[in-house]
Amino acid sequence: MKKNINIIIMGPQGSGKGTQARLLAEKFDLQIFETGNVLREIANQDNEIGRKINDIINVRGQFVPWDIMKKEVFDWGFDRLDKEKGIIFDGTPRIMKEIEYWNEKLPSIGKKIDYIFYIDISKEESVKRISSRKLCKKNAHPLIVGKDLSEDEAKCPICGSEVYRRQDDTPEKVLNRLQWNEENMKPVIEYYDQKKMITRIHGEKSIEEINEEILGYIK
Ligand SMILES: [Zn+2]
Repeated sequence: MKKNINIIIMGPQGSGKGTQARLLAEKFDLQIFETGNVLREIANQDNEIGRKINDIINVRGQFVPWDIMKKEVFDWGFDRLDKEKGIIFDGTPRIMKEIEYWNEKLPSIGKKIDYIFYIDISKEESVKRISSRKLCKKNAHPLIVGKDLSEDEAKCPICGSEVYRRQDDTPEKVLNRLQWNEENMKPVIEYYDQKKMITRIHGEKSIEEINEEILGYIK
């Protein structure tokens, strides 16, 4: 069912927002604007910007400054968007600068945000989920060790590609990111709350239950 709608999916690390974004993208034929994957791809490049971003996100576990993000991730990604298709935003906006960016860019291609879903899980649950997670190389399927695969299993049970643990998925780095999120996301949440745009979804349920709840809100 093709739908030309634009959705923001928010939530702490490990809330499963990436999975929900993929399900919605499949259902409504939407494209995903995801900042994390682009950043990790750049961080793997053996050049100046690659080493710089690798140092920030993988070594120090910090967030990339907006001026670098804007140029390397946002402008880069925006130029590649299919302007005829709806968009799911996963991992943006996280700061006011990103809201300003989208407030300017979306109208320029005749788009606006139609829905915002915030998938909520506790801090404890977030740390627990992320530090016991692996991803597969081909599709970034999130896999919980002990549930979706055993500790020594090397292949994704969904697509068969190799699995790995992200360097920045240690409990300390997850806590760092949660801290950052809380501080920096506050104005973003407040901004959209004032506009009554956010629908909160309890995230400590199954993937299917969360997906069904979200679909119930989309007209
Ligand atoms: Zn996979």
